Amino acid sequence: MNNIIMKLTITQVIALLITAVLIVKCSPKPENTEQEVLVNERPNIIFIMSDDHAYQAISAYGHGLNETPNIDRLANEGAIFTRACVTNSICAPSRAVMLTGKHSFINGKVDNIQPFNWDQDNFPKLLQANGYQTAMIGKIHLDGLPQGFDYSMVLPGQGQYYNPDFLVNGERKRFEGYCTEIITAEAMDWLKNKREKDKPFCLLYHQKAPHRNWQPAPKYLTLYDDKTFDPPANFFDDYEGRGTAAHTQEMQIDGHAQWGHDFKMVIDPHGDSTGFHHALERMNDKQREDWHAAYGPKNEAMKVAKLEGKELAKWKYNRYIKDYLRTIKSVDDGVGKVLDYLEENGLAENTIVVYTSDQGFYLGEHGWFDKRFMYEESFRTPLLVRYPKEIKAGTKINNLIQNLDFAPTFLDYVGIATPKEMQGESFRRLVSGETTDFRDAVYYTYYEYPSVHMVKRHYGVANERYKLMHFYYDVDEWELYDLKNDPAEMNSVYGDPEYAEVQKMMHEKLTALRDYYGDSDENDQKYLTAYLDHMEKRRNRQN
Ligand code: CA
Repeated sequence: MNNIIMKLTITQVIALLITAVLIVKCSPKPENTEQEVLVNERPNIIFIMSDDHAYQAISAYGHGLNETPNIDRLANEGAIFTRACVTNSICAPSRAVMLTGKHSFINGKVDNIQPFNWDQDNFPKLLQANGYQTAMIGKIHLDGLPQGFDYSMVLPGQGQYYNPDFLVNGERKRFEGYCTEIITAEAMDWLKNKREKDKPFCLLYHQKAPHRNWQPAPKYLTLYDDKTFDPPANFFDDYEGRGTAAHTQEMQIDGHAQWGHDFKMVIDPHGDSTGFHHALERMNDKQREDWHAAYGPKNEAMKVAKLEGKELAKWKYNRYIKDYLRTIKSVDDGVGKVLDYLEENGLAENTIVVYTSDQGFYLGEHGWFDKRFMYEESFRTPLLVRYPKEIKAGTKINNLIQNLDFAPTFLDYVGIATPKEMQGESFRRLVSGETTDFRDAVYYTYYEYPSVHMVKRHYGVANERYKLMHFYYDVDEWELYDLKNDPAEMNSVYGDPEYAEVQKMMHEKLTALRDYYGDSDENDQKYLTAYLDHMEKRRNRQN
């Protein structure tokens, strides 16, 4: 033996080794059972949802406000949706629609007050029943133990940015650190250590950020300090051209956002200190020290400047937008970590990754923060989907998709029949390019009034070009917008003779959709009565 080896040159030895490796690699694998093949082919799902993330604040949408290189990877390697929208632009109802695939007036969670019934079907339950391992980590904002998950770790209600409590499979536990980073770390831990590697998985990885009151991570407290942002063109909107609802809302950055809670002026320059003390009390000594070191000088400079009028409004816009974008920086970092993990572990090809928000948000358009209205900035939501097996890199979808469609789409991808009660449509074949045909109009409802921000009850219909809205309860007003001629929705053309045909067509569309989805004036009245009863009981308790 030794003699033989001695006689071989080094080149011959290398050649022999390569041959040996090839023989091993090319040997036929043992036959997989049918079950194994099925399991291995079914895609994994990572559904990333943030809270109040405006599409204007994702660089892939091209608004130039900030850079989100990791979220953009999904658009570059998959699809970006330019007209994804919600059915009801507010946190908890939006999540109920996402889970159940049913409109608010069918799933019952019409506002942040009505209870959510977890006993109804949702897509994670169906995945779980069909062999998927499921987990929900982060913000869900629906009371009760989440159903449909092998593992859940959720913020109670809105949750805290600093040192948040979580309900881990229902048990309350406090975590030290910054909320966005904790949610990412726990999602990563689940992927690495809690995941059963022989099962397909579905992970709902849901951030609280960038929800109000926009508290950045310690490492981003001074990000954008050297920059001044110009507010949008309609920041100083006077609401002429629109109805009562736009005039009577209470969601102006300069007018309704609070000095303490929102602008983090620990002592208000106008003599009143609101809200932010609670946030500071929750921080540990180091966090509080970092916070004061970062915000102390900024706040002092603001007080010395003695700004007034439009200059003061622009300062408020800058404090708002910078804090908002700082919180998004941490969200984007987290997306990067998860995508890297998928790539490093050979999971990128067979995992559908979705990034979306529970709705859009105003970043100073019409002078506003917050959401609720059917106007574009809060009606639309960002949506990016990567699934290399079916979606071509660089796909752009302009069709009207709704959050109603998530449940049917996921079920379609994994080969489970969509239950009849689900009202959304799978966009699988649309995003793969198999078809360009999708619905021609979407239906919208909003209920939470009278309440914080005072956005009136309304419902409406939107197609590619037009939008018809009806505000009701303490008004009875219609608005109609032509998005082609008026993309910022500054002038309602309702009642304009030039739009008589369009108005008629949109009214017919609205009636047809209310009928199709099972909505009615009776529903509106039922939920209004329930809301007013709840408010009255609350007042009585307080008295
Ligand atoms: Ca939200």
